[in-house]
Formats: sequence, C-alpha cells, structure tokens
Amino acid sequence: MTWKVHKIVDTIENFGSAEKYLVFDSDFERFIKGQYPKHKFLETNPHDLVKKYNLKGIVFGNYVTQEERFHFIFKIKHQLETLALISGTSNIGKGKLIVAFGAEGKAQSAAHYNPTKQLINLNRGRLGSYKNVLQGENSFLHEYGHFIDFLTGRSNGGIPVNFASEYRDNMQGKPSDITKNFSKVAQKLFEETEYVERLKKETNWKYLSSPTEMFARLYESALTHFVMKNYKSKRDFFGDEKYKGKYYLSDKKIVDKGLERDIIKITKLIPRYQ
Ligand SMILES: [Zn+2]
Repeated sequence: MTWKVHKIVDTIENFGSAEKYLVFDSDFERFIKGQYPKHKFLETNPHDLVKKYNLKGIVFGNYVTQEERFHFIFKIKHQLETLALISGTSNIGKGKLIVAFGAEGKAQSAAHYNPTKQLINLNRGRLGSYKNVLQGENSFLHEYGHFIDFLTGRSNGGIPVNFASEYRDNMQGKPSDITKNFSKVAQKLFEETEYVERLKKETNWKYLSSPTEMFARLYESALTHFVMKNYKSKRDFFGDEKYKGKYYLSDKKIVDKGLERDIIKITKLIPRYQ
C-alpha cells in the first residue's frame, strides 16, 4: 500500500534551494512502518509547529533527506509540547527563534545556538540505522537554554553582558529579577568546586567552564531529569544517557543543591521572556 504524504520543506522561503530536488527514499515506507504509528508520524507538519509555538521558522539543510525531516519534526514536536506543558505557555519561540536542522554545521558539535540569527541548529547523526538516525535533536534543550539566557541578558538594559548567566553581583548595572535567576544558578554552579576542577582538566576547559556553557548543560540535564520523572509519556523524545558523562553535574547534586527547582522556575518564567 502506498501512503500519501506531504513533502517537508522550509517554513521560511528561500532559506535553502537544493531541497526542491529531494525525493522520498524508496526505504521510506519501511522506515515509518518500523518506527511510529504511521498516521501520527505523517500528520506532523512544520507549519503547524511554527504557528503553535510561535517560532520564526523551521529550516533544513539542503542535504537532509525527507526521512530525516519527518523524524526530526516528530521528535521536536514532542519536545516543544513538553516545554509548553512545563512552562504553561505555547509561546516558546517568541516569534524570534528559528529551529534549523543540518543547516549550518560546525565541526564536531551536535548543535549550536547562533545569537545573531536567533537560530538553533541541530545536526544530523550518522546514517546507517534509522533507529537513532538523529542526534542533534537531543541537544534542543541545551540550545534553548542559551536562547532564553541571551533573550534575558540582552533585553536587560544597562548590564554589561549579553547573557544573563554572565552577570555577577559585583558588576555595574541593575539586573532584572529574571536576570538574577540565571546569574544565581551560574554562581551556584561555580561553587561546585569538584565539578569545576573536573572541567578544568579538559583541553577545552575555557569553553566548558564558561557561565553560559555551564548554565546550558545544567538546563538540559535538570529539565530532562525532571521530564523522566514527571512526564513519563514523553520519555521517548528525550535522551538522558549523556548526562552521566563528566561534563555534567550529577543528578543527585542537581536535586540536592536546589538546582532542579531553580531550572524549573526559570522554565516557568518563559511567558515573561521577550
Ligand atoms: Zn552550548
């Protein structure tokens, strides 16, 4: 039986150009049969997501296949839905955020946030098996943490930093209440000396132990941990394996130091970010 499916393309015109030449792969039916209930999977539409979560757009790299696009959209949809549930608003993108998939790669990173474009790019995983074909979408929460950190710092006039997590009590300027939340979390992280020392052993320690990076890694790990505990039906759409790694503060510490509570508070403030 042949399934009629729509083709997924960018929601912002003229972002890519080669994509119109992409065709469905002959393995597509096998792929969707093996992975998800067909109708649910194929119902997913990037235009609906853009509208519902007030994103500026969703774009794809020219060489991202239709299978990957469907898979990506399906997982991201559930992640956006979870963020909306926790924050109490569907205004996740503030009309500013672009979510890109495989569109602007950086060597050796699964994902990155570009503050100039307000764009979160998530990279493709390795092709081979359709299971776990993607990896970048597991970094969406990390990059979203950068996005709200930047929105907050940047819109807080008079403070000398762009990201709220970089603000310190001894700096000039008047931080807003929301900025203080980010700053407090970053300062708590720096008090975790064993964790900071562990990061300083790495060759890229300057990057790893910067306030924005430490904040974003806490944001993704604390929130993922919270979802695993409280939103069981959403577990499949998040990955928590990586949080056992050395770059992350342990789940136990996150809870014991009240950092999980802080991150949930920051997430519940999403309606107030601008
Ligand atoms: Zn980061």
